[in-house]
Amino acid sequence: MAEQVIYLNGEYVSKEDAKISVFDHGFLYGDGIFEGIRIYGGNIFKCKEHLDRLYDSAKSIMLDIPLTQDEMEQALVETIRKNGLRDGYIRLVVSRGPGNLGLDPKRCPQAWVIIIVEQLAIYPAEAYRDGLVSVSVSQRRNIPDALNPKIKSLNYLNNILVKIQANLAGVGEAIMLNSQGYVAEGSSDNIFIIKRGVVYTPPCYVGALEGITRATIMELCAKLGYTLKEEPFTLHDVYVADEVFFTGTAAEVIAVREVDGRTIGGGKAGPITTHLLEEFRKTVEVDGVKVYE
Ligand code: PMP
Repeated sequence: MAEQVIYLNGEYVSKEDAKISVFDHGFLYGDGIFEGIRIYGGNIFKCKEHLDRLYDSAKSIMLDIPLTQDEMEQALVETIRKNGLRDGYIRLVVSRGPGNLGLDPKRCPQAWVIIIVEQLAIYPAEAYRDGLVSVSVSQRRNIPDALNPKIKSLNYLNNILVKIQANLAGVGEAIMLNSQGYVAEGSSDNIFIIKRGVVYTPPCYVGALEGITRATIMELCAKLGYTLKEEPFTLHDVYVADEVFFTGTAAEVIAVREVDGRTIGGGKAGPITTHLLEEFRKTVEVDGVKVYE
């Protein structure tokens, strides 16, 4: 990778010069939104879907993004080109911008846009074959009528508290329930279970982000002829599932081999999970916005 160049409010600056104000409300209050997007073979995977989600989050929190969606796509393309990256990860952040110490967003005249592209360290290949060990944690998902998990906001403390519990348990990803005890999602991944050939994922109203990888897997299930049901389920259903997997931009499709000490299925990535991962990898190779001519 060439020397890292970061997009900061319309300018391309070095990592050292990429600085934000201490009065930025993203920093002071978590007031802002973000996206994590993958670049595969020089293509931005599901670019439109990520930007749609970003602009929906912005609308929901009444944040004016100072770029149109087309201009934003162009800024992504340009930042990737300047970094000379063909495979990697994009972090796109729009914060409310600098204001005063009060929380009132009216005092923040201009949103800030930041684009960082980097190489991505992912799970080793064996993890996709052997599966992850996971645990459920006591930290519950934000309730949708307080802060809707569909908004991909900079306020990630709920998820960070889950990650801390995952760290304490010595696992990479944990399972979070909602306040009624239904399975919601991981700290930064959606969850699927498979029982007797049927694929289940919780509906987002249970308290989950509308993951782009989740949507891609749902499309693949339809294409490949797997029955997919979006319905609430409990930890019991996870324990007795034949297969369990997480989905996310960084994690892709990763099997879970054990949850709270219960071995899942055969104790490694099951056949449907493996099939979906293979098909997912084929999709990412051909899909996406081309960065290089
Ligand atoms: N849930 C949460 C809370 C997340 O942060 C993420 C990562 N963006 C996901 C699910 C997976 O979403 P996606 O497939 O769009 O990366």
